[in-house]
Amino acid sequence: MPKHCPICNRSSADTKFFGEFCSYCVESKMQKKLPDEVELTVCHRCGMIKSKGGYMEHTSEALEDALSQVIKGYRIRLMSADEDSVTLKITEDLPEYSVTVNKKIHIKWKKQMCERCNRISGGYYEAVIQLRGSDSEKMERFVNRVTRYFEKRNEFITKVKEADNGLDIYLSNKKLAAAYLSSHDVEFVPSYTLYGLKQGKKVYRHTYAVRI
Ligand SMILES: [Zn+2]
Ligand SMILES: [Zn+2]
Repeated sequence: MPKHCPICNRSSADTKFFGEFCSYCVESKMQKKLPDEVELTVCHRCGMIKSKGGYMEHTSEALEDALSQVIKGYRIRLMSADEDSVTLKITEDLPEYSVTVNKKIHIKWKKQMCERCNRISGGYYEAVIQLRGSDSEKMERFVNRVTRYFEKRNEFITKVKEADNGLDIYLSNKKLAAAYLSSHDVEFVPSYTLYGLKQGKKVYRHTYAVRI
């Protein structure tokens, strides 16, 4: 005896059933439950998108991850994406069966600035390398190397200023500055200046005098 769907009266002889309802009705019910639009956060300066672990580079994995955070309780696979919409394969795992639908969802981008861009635009720096020497090409190479080293690690060079007999390189992270100098066998003379308090602790800016 074929079953008949209590909603649309389709017969189990013609169509797949999930429990007592036909697949058409089960899938359309799920379609209605899913949002047509979700809001995701993007950094308007660098384009990174925000997910559970903070801001990440805008890849399809990051997008999938961010979407999973807002469309909870489903398994989500990104099929395609354009600027302001995505097509997803969405699966709901129920005790008796799993239902999968494809759905195009509009994305509303909320524009913010990530922490890194915030610091860049505020001219933030923790350390200065006072590079001194007479070979300007050598100094330029030094700046390029340290810039690459910082950018690779998601940090940045705030500015490079001309100084007497050299350049002052302003850096976003003092630990990384020290790590760079030690790992590249650069001799330096450190000095520290107090520049404020952060949660009751003294904060120092580090200066490294380097002669090349
Ligand atoms: Zn039905
Ligand atoms: Zn950013």
